[in-house]
Amino acid sequence: MIRKDTFWDLTAHFTATLLIAALFLIYSKDPKVILYCFLGGVLVDLDHLIDYFLYFGFNFNLKYFFEGRFLLSRRIYLFLHGWELVLVLVLLSFLNKSLGLWTFTVSLGVHIFIDNIQRDNKLFYLFSYRLYHKFNAEKLCPNLSERLDSFV
Ligand SMILES: [Zn+2]
Repeated sequence: MIRKDTFWDLTAHFTATLLIAALFLIYSKDPKVILYCFLGGVLVDLDHLIDYFLYFGFNFNLKYFFEGRFLLSRRIYLFLHGWELVLVLVLLSFLNKSLGLWTFTVSLGVHIFIDNIQRDNKLFYLFSYRLYHKFNAEKLCPNLSERLDSFV
């Protein structure tokens, strides 16, 4: 049901998040850092739901979601997947000196790094780049047609 690349992507995010959470937990002794790590490192992928709902409406199908069938919209928004957001959060973390914000920010940065190294288009995770291309999936993902053909 889950594509092999999706499974390995989730495994990588989960593993990296566990490691980051362990490091912050050792450093801070505050169990709340585990929650912030999972928000930034794993649950940030819930923004794929926004792309899904924009295409399918609120008619949710778990199989279609994990297959990425919302790509049939030929639009990719992923509002939380952007290096610009990480940069803003780094600045806010410096200003606020908040361990929780730092934890979230590091986890999100590692999450986007893991996503980024898997992409052929290395500019994909710049939100401004996707905006410049009007979120057009065919321009952002050179191999999109192969993926869309697999849905037929
Ligand atoms: Zn992601």
